[in-house]
Amino acid sequence: MLELCDFLIIGGGSAGCIIAKRLAEKTTGRIILLEAGKSDEGDPAATDLSRLDEQTADYDWGFKASALAGGRPELRYARAKLLGGCANHNDCAFLRPPDSDFDAW
Ligand SMILES: Cc1cc2nc3c(=O)[nH]c(=O)nc-3n(C[C@H](O)[C@H](O)[C@H](O)COP(=O)(O)OP(=O)(O)OC[C@H]3O[C@@H](n4cnc5c(N)ncnc54)[C@H](O)[C@@H]3O)c2cc1C
Repeated sequence: MLELCDFLIIGGGSAGCIIAKRLAEKTTGRIILLEAGKSDEGDPAATDLSRLDEQTADYDWGFKASALAGGRPELRYARAKLLGGCANHNDCAFLRPPDSDFDAW
């Protein structure tokens, strides 16, 4: 892999994508951005708000937080495995402030 590129970025989350973009703007070097997961582009579930909490093994590493004392069960610990990383599967929900807020800013 290293002979194919000048910059190898591992992980296509927010950090990896930003670094790749900024490098591409500043260098003519060959950049590879390597992401373990796939893209959800074109998957209707990606924009279906009724499926917000549905993070399937397709798009998630499936980590579990350790069981806590007192017999509490393991908790699911969402960590995205897809292009865009956690910023992609952390629901893409946002509130747009009123125009007056933008004007004030
Ligand atoms: C459910 C959820 C809700 C969140 N809500 C908010 C919020 O409301 N506001 C906020 O500010 N932040 C929120 N966050 C946190 C925010 O999304 C993350 O801090 C941020 O996206 C991390 O970006 P990152 O690029 O550092 O890592 P990640 O987004 O984790 O990206 C890492 C990428 O690397 C890939 N990768 C890992 N290992 C390898 C490997 N060996 N080879 C190739 N690829 C690999 C992963 O698949 C992943 O795509 C939330 C996170 C989650 C999970």
